[in-house]
Amino acid sequence: MADEPSKQSGATLAEYDLFIDGAFQESTGDERITVGSPYDDEAWATVPNGTEADVGVAVQAARDAFEREWRDTLPSDRAVVLHEIADVLDKHDAELGELETRQNGKLLREMKPQMNAAAEWYRYYASQCRTLEGRTIPVENKGGDVLNYTTREPLGVVGAITPWNSPLLLLTWKLAPALAAGNTFVHKPSEETPVSALRFAELLAAETSLPDGTFNVVPGYGEGAGTALTDHEDVDKLSFTGSTAVGRQIASTAGERLTPVSLELGGKNPNVVFADADLDNVLNGIVKGIFAATGQTCVAGSRALVHEDVYDEVVDRLVDRAAAIELGDPLEESTQMGPLAFRNQYKRVKGYVDLAVEEGATVAYGGEQPSSQPGTCFIEPTVLIDVENDMQVVQEEIFGPVLAVIPFATEAEAIALANDTDYGLAAGVWTNSVAKAHRVADGLEAGTIWVNEYRMVSYASPFGGYKDSGIGREQGEEGLEEYMQTKSVWIDLSEEVSDPFRLG
Ligand code: NAD
Repeated sequence: MADEPSKQSGATLAEYDLFIDGAFQESTGDERITVGSPYDDEAWATVPNGTEADVGVAVQAARDAFEREWRDTLPSDRAVVLHEIADVLDKHDAELGELETRQNGKLLREMKPQMNAAAEWYRYYASQCRTLEGRTIPVENKGGDVLNYTTREPLGVVGAITPWNSPLLLLTWKLAPALAAGNTFVHKPSEETPVSALRFAELLAAETSLPDGTFNVVPGYGEGAGTALTDHEDVDKLSFTGSTAVGRQIASTAGERLTPVSLELGGKNPNVVFADADLDNVLNGIVKGIFAATGQTCVAGSRALVHEDVYDEVVDRLVDRAAAIELGDPLEESTQMGPLAFRNQYKRVKGYVDLAVEEGATVAYGGEQPSSQPGTCFIEPTVLIDVENDMQVVQEEIFGPVLAVIPFATEAEAIALANDTDYGLAAGVWTNSVAKAHRVADGLEAGTIWVNEYRMVSYASPFGGYKDSGIGREQGEEGLEEYMQTKSVWIDLSEEVSDPFRLG
């Protein structure tokens, strides 16, 4: 069972099926998953709990679409389809954004523009379709009388598994490059947020020329539809976004089957604040990093490492900023922080706050469920002080609005503290010294470094983790490479018969 909403509204629940081969199809099983709103705990939709057999049907549809059509569709024609997908996101941004908010409680003021942002990913990868070139390599075999060139080919059927925190955007980071490269796709969305992907697939079938079977959605649990997809022998590439623990299991399955795999995993990201930084800017950046999206982003800046000269001032101002955050209905424009996405997520975050106190930390602000809000998923923005970098709450990903603030004395100490974690997804550096910014960016072990800003992404700039934060990159040219393989073709132009007993 998913984390079931505690209340059932009297209204009929919207019912969705699997989306396979261009149409809704019934599951071979009869279990359903209930989807609810974390704002008020009301259930509002159900989806099938996809079975192994359902995943098999979806993979076969994707294989057929790959071989029948999509692999051989001209790149410029694929680009046309990607533009059509982008237009669907723009046209239906209000509806899709609201579905996202009703599933996971993230602010509509963030989720609706996120649909327009996602559209740009399809447009960017549409442009990449037109430059899918190989290379001609001047090899010197046979005195140079050999033509060697490369072609880049799709991998085949992609199996993609995504989390609940930005469902359609994180799907897009995989689907846009995978389609551009000529692959077909089976998606297993999170059991907490399966509706937006199903509705998106329905809209694409109705309003674009994407061939049937090219994009299929099978909702279900991780142990079930998820493992059926990762174990399926006809899946040519696995792409996963989620926790490091599940990423490890998927990497192990992929390793056993020798299937290429991309992993976008968790983070415990530091904001490193030097005394010369513009503190107004710093405060904004820290709030943006940890309290936006209720801290439920992989790039959440959950550790603030602050130079001792400005530590007290930064903590005081952070407490004021946290106290001023407007909690409320995520559908309302004025709300600045909504609930956590579901009840178990609340329990996890609250559990970490309690653990922090047991470990000796002080809660400078927050940590409680506010009585002013409905439902059972709200937690106050929380600032922890008196923490050591080796405490569990400072080492483990909480995935909620909980910030640990730690002082440092020197640049070397700041870099050492920042890197003293198993994760390496992102980091912020705050200083007005250009030289220090470069030095520290150079010293940090993370896939993304922001200087004097935080939580910026673009379709054009590679994103991914160092260390336990992942394998591979999304966005940019690197993101496309994850969905292609390179073939090297050799053509003998000489009239020479070679020695059969030597390499060359
Ligand atoms: P999760 O790992 O619990 O689940 C992610 C997905 O994997 C879900 O669809 C789930 O059903 C599926 N799954 C679970 N067990 C599985 C299994 N054994 N085999 C196959 N699939 C399985 O993560 P979550 O709680 O949904 O999301 C939060 C996590 O995602 C955080 O760790 C966060 O940092 C990470 N995340 C990373 C990025 C990134 O780009 N690096 C972005 C967003 C979220």
